[in-house]
Amino acid sequence: MNYIYIRGSNKMKECIKSPQLILEEKKAVKLFLWLFYIVYFSFDILAYYLLPNTLKNEKIGNPQEGLGNWIYVLIMILLPISIWMIKKGNLYLVKYVYIYCYLLIDVINTLIIYIGNPKHYMGGHIVEVLFVLFCPIFVSKKYFWTVSLSLIGKYIVLGLILRDPQVFISIVIYLILSAISNVMLTRFYSYIKSLTSIHDELLKKEKLAVIGQMAAAIGHEIRNPLSSLKGFTQLQQERYPNTNDFYPIMIQEIDRINSIVNDLMYIGKPRAVKFEKASIEEIIAYTLSITQQQAEIQGITVETTMAGPLPPIDCDSNQLKQVFLNLIKNAIEAMPDGGCIKINVKVVEKQKMYISIQDEGCGIKDENILNLGEPFFTTKEDGTGLGLMVTNQIIKEHLGKLNIKSEVEKGTKVEVILPIIHRK
Ligand code: ADP
Ligand code: MG
Repeated sequence: MNYIYIRGSNKMKECIKSPQLILEEKKAVKLFLWLFYIVYFSFDILAYYLLPNTLKNEKIGNPQEGLGNWIYVLIMILLPISIWMIKKGNLYLVKYVYIYCYLLIDVINTLIIYIGNPKHYMGGHIVEVLFVLFCPIFVSKKYFWTVSLSLIGKYIVLGLILRDPQVFISIVIYLILSAISNVMLTRFYSYIKSLTSIHDELLKKEKLAVIGQMAAAIGHEIRNPLSSLKGFTQLQQERYPNTNDFYPIMIQEIDRINSIVNDLMYIGKPRAVKFEKASIEEIIAYTLSITQQQAEIQGITVETTMAGPLPPIDCDSNQLKQVFLNLIKNAIEAMPDGGCIKINVKVVEKQKMYISIQDEGCGIKDENILNLGEPFFTTKEDGTGLGLMVTNQIIKEHLGKLNIKSEVEKGTKVEVILPIIHRK
């Protein structure tokens, strides 16, 4: 079962690696490489030269145990490998190469030093903290999980092999650091997400404003001749009632053009909402009276259930008529072979009016769900793809919600939830 919640233009977008994003990752990798080597060698100079010299008066010099100087050779080999990877376009893998290779070298080194040696484990390298702190900088959940799990995993394995309780101090430290890093990463994510959605919304508004200006200008020009055309057709029909069966069809088609023009004029230039108390029963009855003829032709029955006496709601009744007209028309158009449309109206959460329109039609395919409400998205041969966009816009202006649940070949349920009392 598909369940979607249309909220303005919010639409999950595929993550596309744009040139700017690649540039950002390049900057992050560069910073990571610099800091990795600075931190790595500073720590070792401190551990093997400065501290022994000043504090303990011990012998200074390179590490003698474990892999000895080979560690530096191996760590330095990673640099040309990562540069080669960046050149080959595998920029996103560099950080993983470092974490995995570092861990491999470190575990081998630690095991050579401590296995069979009674001295206590001295803790890991400070560069591991850098790995954790870079999670929010790379803004990658995958990297966060890789680093956290592999570092903590490393200490658990070492703890089990060496049977040294000191290792567990490192586990606790990395658990805390990972938690902090996760909080930062989540904050970064949510901040970036809100920036992206603002950007999307602005882009869409801009696009709609241009289309809207064009549509409004053309619509305005079409509406006037259209209303004279309708007037004259009606006049002709009255004058010669028996001569032509096509007059009702002509009027119906003119009405259709009119409703398309109305929808078009709504884009980018929503009309001012005039809030007044209105009866939802009357609004729905009106829309049903308009759609009745088409429903009958297609063998569709409509069952309406209104729960008890319903309070009037604050709304622009003309706009709500347009909402329910669009939704009921969509339900009818989804059932070319007939069926039943169930309309349910009730008060929920005391202050909200809930209206559902359920059909037994073709349903909406998964791949189309995300496009619903986008201007001009239609799967119908003669559709305009404006109905749900206008509907969504009007419901948003009424501070309401629109939910759509759909199952292919079973039907669609559209829920509209509107506040009964409008508070700005
Ligand atoms: P149009 O009706 O002109 O195609 P809408 O914005 O009203 O434009 O609807 C967009 C698309 O959403 C439709 O083309 C259809 O694919 C899908 N849709 C909307 N409502 C329903 C429904 N009740 N059942 C099946 N598909 C629907
Ligand atoms: Mg429609």
